[in-house]
Amino acid sequence: MKIHEYQAKEILQRYGVRVQGGQVAETVEEAVAAWRRLQEAGHELAVIKAQIHAGGRGKGGGVQLVRSEEEVREVAGAMLGRMLKTPQTGPEGQKVRKVFVAEGLDLDREFYVGVVLDRARACPVLMVSAEGGVEIEEVARERPEAILKLALDVDRGLQPFQARRAAFFLGLRGEEMKKAVPFLTGLVRAWLELDCSLAEINPLVVTRQGEVVALDAKMNFDGNALYRHPELAAMRDLHEEDPREVEASKYGLNYIALDGNIGCMVNGAGLAMATMDTIQLHGGRPANFLDVGGGADEQAITAAFRILLGDAQVKGILVNIFGGIMRCDVIARGVIAAARNVSLDRPLVVRLEGTNVEEGRRLLEESGLPLTPAASLDEAARLVCEAVHATA
Ligand code: GDP
Ligand code: MN
Repeated sequence: MKIHEYQAKEILQRYGVRVQGGQVAETVEEAVAAWRRLQEAGHELAVIKAQIHAGGRGKGGGVQLVRSEEEVREVAGAMLGRMLKTPQTGPEGQKVRKVFVAEGLDLDREFYVGVVLDRARACPVLMVSAEGGVEIEEVARERPEAILKLALDVDRGLQPFQARRAAFFLGLRGEEMKKAVPFLTGLVRAWLELDCSLAEINPLVVTRQGEVVALDAKMNFDGNALYRHPELAAMRDLHEEDPREVEASKYGLNYIALDGNIGCMVNGAGLAMATMDTIQLHGGRPANFLDVGGGADEQAITAAFRILLGDAQVKGILVNIFGGIMRCDVIARGVIAAARNVSLDRPLVVRLEGTNVEEGRRLLEESGLPLTPAASLDEAARLVCEAVHATA
């Protein structure tokens, strides 16, 4: 699960991480009130930052410096309610519903700091680089030596010597080093305690006044651990998520939208992956990953059909179900009822295998539905690719 920058900053502050302060605003008037408060605190410069779940906002015009109330009105008015396109959003962009009105800082140097899980080393790592403000993936590709990675002990967190080593690598000395140590330690502690999958500060800055501050903040959380953090779960912003994925999650379906044109409905994540691979092998492109789970009932299958058919990109559907715990006849009844509930207007290929498969196939055949049965996964993938190819 992702959250907004302003939420991540609120959280990190509680862990002793110094952040660029500010206030979130949903209207121009709220933005003006936030600006006035910054002025009263002695700031002459503010930054208006669009709050969307995507980075690269600076490049898309979603981060702007302002120096007067008129500018605040102008910039906040132009951002709020508009679509913001950045290198990380889709081509239509994402709608800006909130802006963060932050204190403007006088930057001296920008760095990159991130905590991620290193699957190869099977532990979290702290990554730091003096090349801040740019895409870290690019640095990793072109100049891997410019990134320092420190393996973290999950019980102890960041050790003082590690924090000093990271700060030293960034070229921080004296007072700057002293400020960087609690900053990095707090960041790692937040990552561990809150079950993060990512905590990234890009950029971490040293201001001309010598302060070490998080100018940006991104935190992602492990969805499977959210039950331990109801206060984090409450930060979920459904506006930022794909509406089909939100709908699917209501029925316990594991659905991820992709950009192909063959809708897939499969039980079991492994089988779903294999199905997507086989479609690709036959020259097709899956429109989604969808695992309906082991105990999907008629209602869940109907919801799944509705989501697949609601996608105009989908030109054909492949249902690939292995009846293990669930029996094929039960699944066939679910598929038939669901296909009748929604108006099935695109080619549908169904492959069933497992317990009571003969009964399941007979039910499909007798249903009179315009579906194509398939005996194997390979055949099913080939048939759906051909059907989609024929309609294109
Ligand atoms: P992102 O583009 O979505 O990653 O948004 P960031 O929060 O990282 O901001 C992008 C860039 O805007 C930063 O790298 C800075 O160069 C600039 N920026 C943001 N806040 C300030 C500020 O207070 N002062 C100055 N001078 N630049 C800022
Ligand atoms: Mn950033």
